[in-house]
Amino acid sequence: MGKHIRCARCRFARPDHNASTRKWTANECGNRDSEYYRALLNITLGGGMLPVITWTGCAWGEPLVGGGVL
Ligand code: SF4
Repeated sequence: MGKHIRCARCRFARPDHNASTRKWTANECGNRDSEYYRALLNITLGGGMLPVITWTGCAWGEPLVGGGVL
């Protein structure tokens, strides 16, 4: 298990092309060990599409070398 980091800085955050629209790229958790696996990381509780990843992360995150996705 890694340390708790924000999803925007986690190497498991990845684009979800199936959930994306023409103008918005959805990002999901790609870590099978996380309780948030396949959860979208840049939406509001109401389903609003956010331009950046705001999800606070989990204890299974691992740092992305060289910065975050967004
Ligand atoms: S939920 Fe956890 S494992 Fe998934 S992208 Fe965020 S920090 Fe990484």
